Amino acid sequence: MNERQPPPVRALEPSQGLCPQCAHVRRIESAKGSVFWMCEKSRDDPRYPRYPAQPRMVCPGFER
Ligand code: SF4
Repeated sequence: MNERQPPPVRALEPSQGLCPQCAHVRRIESAKGSVFWMCEKSRDDPRYPRYPAQPRMVCPGFER
């Protein structure tokens, strides 16, 4: 019997992607009002970029 991984989670709202809804994100706002989404998984796991390109529509690390 083959062990299969669950399918990756996909964003429900395409305009925003997954990061704004994720338990592993930190919202960073610059002095000029620009918003960046920092992935805290990037601290321990090199597969995750510190600032993922947005919108990120599929991510195996996503947790609501
Ligand atoms: S784990 Fe994935 S969805 Fe969550 S903040 Fe990091 S890159 Fe975004």
